[in-house]
Amino acid sequence: MPLPITYADVAAAQERLAGVAHRTPVLRSSTADEIAGAKLFFKCENFQRMGAFKFRGAYNALAQLSKEQGEKGVVAYSSGNHAQGVALAAKLLSMPAAIVMPSDAPAVKVAATRGYGAEVVSYGRYQEDREVIGKRLAAERGMTLIPPYNHPHVMAGQGTAANELVQEVPDLDVLLVCLGGGGLISGCAVAAKQLNPKIRVIGVEPEAGNDVQQSFRSGKIVKIDTPKTIADGAQTQAVGDLTFAVIQALVDDIVTVSDAQLVDAMRFAASRMKMVVEPTGALAMAAAMSGGLALAGKRIGVIISGGNVDIAQFAKLVG
Ligand SMILES: *Cc1c(COP(=O)(O)O)cnc(C)c1O
Repeated sequence: MPLPITYADVAAAQERLAGVAHRTPVLRSSTADEIAGAKLFFKCENFQRMGAFKFRGAYNALAQLSKEQGEKGVVAYSSGNHAQGVALAAKLLSMPAAIVMPSDAPAVKVAATRGYGAEVVSYGRYQEDREVIGKRLAAERGMTLIPPYNHPHVMAGQGTAANELVQEVPDLDVLLVCLGGGGLISGCAVAAKQLNPKIRVIGVEPEAGNDVQQSFRSGKIVKIDTPKTIADGAQTQAVGDLTFAVIQALVDDIVTVSDAQLVDAMRFAASRMKMVVEPTGALAMAAAMSGGLALAGKRIGVIISGGNVDIAQFAKLVG
């Protein structure tokens, strides 16, 4: 069966994003290399527009809507980075956007989403179902629902992060990518394996929520309860069917890291590399630096996926 996306889709996304998304830097740290016993190349999507790679997939999806769809606008349900990615992409493409967010979402996130010109539709987290609200809005207003990961245009857009990294740093032995619903890793695996067929692509999940690892090993999608972890961008209960098809075909292994290892990685990034990385954004970095993988002497690509964390929470975690 053909995969839901091909390298041509990632390459087309890369052209759509040219001059719109940032080409994020690839940073090195000799101290990190010493700790890992390997050469680490950090692709820093915490410096992407709106602070995470999600802008890539959102823009790639919105840019492919028809004129009529664009005029009616888009809906997303998310309290996190996908919402902001869709809101910013909609603003740049002059489309209306409605973002469904829980009424207790952090004020900074609500303000950021409104700041991009999106309408925030709030709901009671414990009384209502955001998916139902999102679908109702879409039906009532003729808006297009933009899913956070299980969509070919979103997956292809996210893959541009690895496309840039692997073009800039040839001969990587391993690529480490964090994993929630699998949009990022599926796009990245398609790009990385096309450009460097020998590369091993390894997904990194929070220990508390290893549903993808379980799914990967059993060959069918496993659904779990919402995991308790500080990696809020990876609190998904299950992967999508489209992302899973790519994961099964192209990903070599899936590993987990603990919340304590995430905090260590965030602290390292802040103190040694002078950067703010959100807990989910540190998953791949934690896997590279916590010694659990056989990486000795290898060249490792590490995707740092985002940097959006409430500054008070950040201080509490790393302080
Ligand atoms: C969404 C998100 C992830 C997980 O991405 P998926 O495509 O759902 O696997 C990881 N890190 C950050 C910062 C995110 O916003």
